[in-house]
Amino acid sequence: YLGRLGGLSSFIYYVLGKGLCEIAAMSVQVLAAEMAEVELKDVPIESEPKAVATSATTPTMEPIVKTGDPSLGFLTPNTKMPQASAMKRTDPQQNGGEAFVNRDGTVAEAPRLKKIQFADQKQEFNKRPTKIGRRSLSRSISQSSTDSYGSAASYTDSSDDETSPRDKQQKNSKGNGDFCIKNIKQADFGRREIEIAEQEMPALMALRKRAQGEKPLAGAKVVGCTHITAQTAVLMETLSALGAQCRWAACNIYSTQNEVAAALAEGGFSVFAWKGESEDDFWWCIDRCVNLEGWQPNMILDDGGDLTHWIYKKYPNMFKKIKGIVEESVTGVHRLYQLSKAGKLCVPAMNVNDSVTKQKFDNLYCCRESILDGLKRTTDVMFGGKQVVVCGYGEVGKGCCAALKAMGSIVYVTEIDPICALQACMDGFRLVKLSEVIRQVDIVITCTGNKNVVVREYLDRMKNGCIVCNMGHSNTEIDVASLRTPELTWERVRSQVDHVIWPDGKRIVLLAEGRLLNLSCSTVPTFVLSITATTQALALIELYNAPEGRYKQDVYLLPKKMDEYVASLHLPTFDAHLTELSDEQAKYLGLNKNGPFKPNYYR
Ligand code: NAD
Repeated sequence: YLGRLGGLSSFIYYVLGKGLCEIAAMSVQVLAAEMAEVELKDVPIESEPKAVATSATTPTMEPIVKTGDPSLGFLTPNTKMPQASAMKRTDPQQNGGEAFVNRDGTVAEAPRLKKIQFADQKQEFNKRPTKIGRRSLSRSISQSSTDSYGSAASYTDSSDDETSPRDKQQKNSKGNGDFCIKNIKQADFGRREIEIAEQEMPALMALRKRAQGEKPLAGAKVVGCTHITAQTAVLMETLSALGAQCRWAACNIYSTQNEVAAALAEGGFSVFAWKGESEDDFWWCIDRCVNLEGWQPNMILDDGGDLTHWIYKKYPNMFKKIKGIVEESVTGVHRLYQLSKAGKLCVPAMNVNDSVTKQKFDNLYCCRESILDGLKRTTDVMFGGKQVVVCGYGEVGKGCCAALKAMGSIVYVTEIDPICALQACMDGFRLVKLSEVIRQVDIVITCTGNKNVVVREYLDRMKNGCIVCNMGHSNTEIDVASLRTPELTWERVRSQVDHVIWPDGKRIVLLAEGRLLNLSCSTVPTFVLSITATTQALALIELYNAPEGRYKQDVYLLPKKMDEYVASLHLPTFDAHLTELSDEQAKYLGLNKNGPFKPNYYR
């Protein structure tokens, strides 16, 4: 679209002119690999989120090959033609009753679908909310909405004003009061935060420039539920520059940067969020975003699936006008696949979480850049010479290990997968069992996405002063509950830092109570978020502009071509000079000169 060749026309040109064979060939390759990536567990939507096993494959199955998925007809760098077909992620267990072909040629029946259970949500809001921190213990709120994120980045302390934003009447300088935030007077400060973030979000700024004159999101009414930070503000203002109207709530009760929310409200955005919302506030804010007379959203941008879930529960008719859902998180994507599997997904959805530009950048570089920051801010620990064990050598583990090694730490790795284990060995790390090193290490970091990796037995055997933290998806990796026993004393020594003390005086240093360290105790690099935010913006543009029938009521992955485009928009920051294929080379490799340069399954 932004490369002048919009939607259907470029698709037709491409299909007729060049790409039919490539599409077919690639689709076969891609879908073969995509198949069986996700194995969904039938968990209730409100239960503790489980990591979607994106890297897991089912060795006994051959993929179901589907071709004919439409290509994206927009967004190519400069005037290059689009190349990739939009790849539907083929979930082996969805599409009710599909059969699989095993390697031995036998046909296996798809597992029976269980019904999705929706936990009852509160549908009435308290008239008079009490103060922060009164979240219900019943936890109908999702895990993702309580994992703190980027909290250290907020410079404004909300504790100086105890009045709930819901009890305040505020207006921006233009007299608009369609928002609910902590304090509109913080807007100037928030604007400076946004300007700093813009420096590190070159692709979104490039999209804004390219969109001058063209408004690919004209008429789009985007309702969003993400962390409300300076980086999100840059995304929202980009969407607005592309023609969209936006209403936004926070996907996390702790992560809102109040001053940024103020700047957005001052800029005319309808934002409903503040740092330290209660559970009741959380759902109230989402409802205020959605429930407005005379305004109906036609696009959803979600992080965690709570907004989507709310609309499903409270306003299902809205889906008649909604053209698509873009979802960023593991949890939200998992919920979408559940809906799809149960035949309840009413609109197409884009799974941004599993795009290469998220997995290979967010997971790896984000953690490489933030692990030291999180540890340092909480403990002031010196890394040189310290013995560290990192559990899990996936993308997150690789990032953590690289950062620690560079600081002179002695790093051990634990793994269950021989491939990742071999990678760890060849990267120069000692592969051990946790039990072998648990007595001697100074720091234990979990990055597996699994549960009960560090159990009480190991915690008992750790040495005095050992630091224990988690970089994985949720607080399941360290068995924190096992430490809540009468003989152990908990001492809060800093925000997010607890000493857990044994009767003999031994103490371990537990960070963020086992929740994600970097999201709880440090900031994450804006540039990495830029990559994800750009992918979200492109997914919205694609879904919004897709002609009828291009996407069905299913969950789709972004095609490699779009990932490549997102990457290319970030290259100028580094003054990077990309080599172009010669005609001869392109022919030799069987590639189009303008990409995609790798098959979709390439990770
Ligand atoms: P991954 O699947 O690539 O890696 C996880 C690794 O852990 C795998 O290699 C797996 O074999 C290994 N593993 C599983 N159980 C294990 C066990 N009991 N002992 C040792 N190793 C074990 O996933 P990833 O991309 O590295 O992500 C890991 C987790 O981090 C996920 O939960 C993900 O959601 C989360 N994540 C965190 C951040 C962050 O900023 N902190 C960013 C992205 C992802």
